[in-house]
Amino acid sequence: MEIPESSNFIQDIIVNDLKTGKRTNVHTRFPPEPNGYIHIGHAKSICLNFGTANKYADFGGITNLRFDDTNPTKEDVEYVDSIREDVKWLGFDWKGGEYFASDYYDKIYEFAEKLIEMGKAYVEDLSREEMQELRGNDAGKPSKPSPYRDRSVEENMRLFREMRDGKYADGEKCLRAKVDLASPNMNMRDPTIYRIKHCSHHRTGDKWCIYPMYDFAHPLSDWLEGITHSICTLEFEAHRPLYDWFLIELGLENRPQQIEFARLNLTYTMMSKRKLLELVQTKAVMGWNDPRMPTVCGYRRRGFTASSIREFCNRIGVSKADSMVDVNLLYFCLREELNQTASRAMAVIDPVKVVIDNWEDGKVEMVEVENNPNDPNAGKREVPFGKEIYIEADDFMEEPPKKYFRLRPDGEVRLKGAYFIKCVSVEKDADGKVKLIHCTYDPATKGGESPDGRKVKGTIHWVSAAHAVDAEIRLIDNLFTLEDPSNVPEGEDWHSYLNPNSMIIKQAKLEPSLANAKLEDRFQFMRQGYFCLDSVDSKPDHLVFNRTVDLKDSFNKK
Ligand code: ATP
Ligand code: MG
Repeated sequence: MEIPESSNFIQDIIVNDLKTGKRTNVHTRFPPEPNGYIHIGHAKSICLNFGTANKYADFGGITNLRFDDTNPTKEDVEYVDSIREDVKWLGFDWKGGEYFASDYYDKIYEFAEKLIEMGKAYVEDLSREEMQELRGNDAGKPSKPSPYRDRSVEENMRLFREMRDGKYADGEKCLRAKVDLASPNMNMRDPTIYRIKHCSHHRTGDKWCIYPMYDFAHPLSDWLEGITHSICTLEFEAHRPLYDWFLIELGLENRPQQIEFARLNLTYTMMSKRKLLELVQTKAVMGWNDPRMPTVCGYRRRGFTASSIREFCNRIGVSKADSMVDVNLLYFCLREELNQTASRAMAVIDPVKVVIDNWEDGKVEMVEVENNPNDPNAGKREVPFGKEIYIEADDFMEEPPKKYFRLRPDGEVRLKGAYFIKCVSVEKDADGKVKLIHCTYDPATKGGESPDGRKVKGTIHWVSAAHAVDAEIRLIDNLFTLEDPSNVPEGEDWHSYLNPNSMIIKQAKLEPSLANAKLEDRFQFMRQGYFCLDSVDSKPDHLVFNRTVDLKDSFNKK
């Protein structure tokens, strides 16, 4: 069988392993901790793990979904359910199966006892602070051995079992691996592998009061599942020697290979789960699925497609160097797709009324407008036109600057698909705000065609007032005003960089066809951007549309 050619350094390793026969199959896993909703950074990891396995499907390429639930205090089934839903929505299937690290607690416990038997683990009585004091540093100062480091195997075994049986309070003891106190790698200086935590676990209940540390549980979980390539983010690079140490010391063959890549950072986007949780808990946002949140469910509600997120993850690729990706690339990927697929429609977001003085009272005419110029099969739709219409307030200016091609006193503009109109006068309210614009139309310009070669540069969108559908429109923007909100200048508070204009609400007038919009529909509102119904707040008698992204492409301009 032909091995698919590698297109990144992770696949280089896989191809090499298949070629040399070190491996005959490819088995990856996505290991979320169920302590929050997954975000766009996790999406990158998902695309990488599932995408890599899919590429090597002929070599048994499959992926496990493994909930890394070794920290009982922060985890919740709500998160488990949301993670399943989001991975599925992104288009991936855990063909390798669904697992929980907590399913392995018995086995992991046995491995710990085995290390004790081998004299490779010991029960520590020092407190965390005392251990910290003996730790030395990575500038060459070795750790000082704990006075408990040389306990006998029997004593360690007895104490560890007593820990398991609940004889000690939280923090009173822990189990440490006996690795290397002189290692320049601090992770190797007798890391803690079990700690006491008297608390219930969302799956194992009160069965355990000791829980394995991530660094111990992770390589064992990988090995137990037959993972071949364990892909993780760069911060685990310095943990890899420990990952290997456990597997080697325990004599476990066919060791999984840990491979690290640089995590995704996105401009104007915060990815810390802790801070995202705070935004949810303090109600700074409407929930994990707020359309401004960088969560997969937030992007979904905002109107992103799964395919555009996958495309984005493909385009950014994988590397070993940390970098910041421009969030506009994500928007670009979405626009590129929706430009091909979204139905066009007209919506007036900041309406001002226009009355066409020479139009017969009560007369309604249907005009034809293209549904999608990029889709030859999309056809046209009929839109009602009448005596009173709405246009965008800023499509009219009384004293326009040069090169303003929209409506102005005595000026003509084209109404998309309908007629040329000319402004003859304006009515204002007491504050001087334009209340009503009087126009005349030219019957010879039906369909927006010029009858005599007369030039009308501006084409604007409109909605018939008598047929308009009311809707709430949410103009969504970045949640943060700082390019890197994870790195606020010293002495400053990240909260002060929350964008006060991240969601601007408008009361809009829509063309009548939009009354039948469905949740999965995507629209390009002419000149305004891409929109979809809000899956949570939109109701048949109160439509709510989110602007997923505007039309301007600030990515390619750069
Ligand atoms: P925590 O601090 O809670 O561990 P985490 O973001 O690492 O947060 P996990 O649930 O442990 O969350 O992550 C699951 C997987 O997603 C891990 O393999 C992790 O490396 C990967 N991941 C997390 N954030 C990113 C990111 N920004 N870019 C790429 N991968 C990420
Ligand atoms: Mg993590």
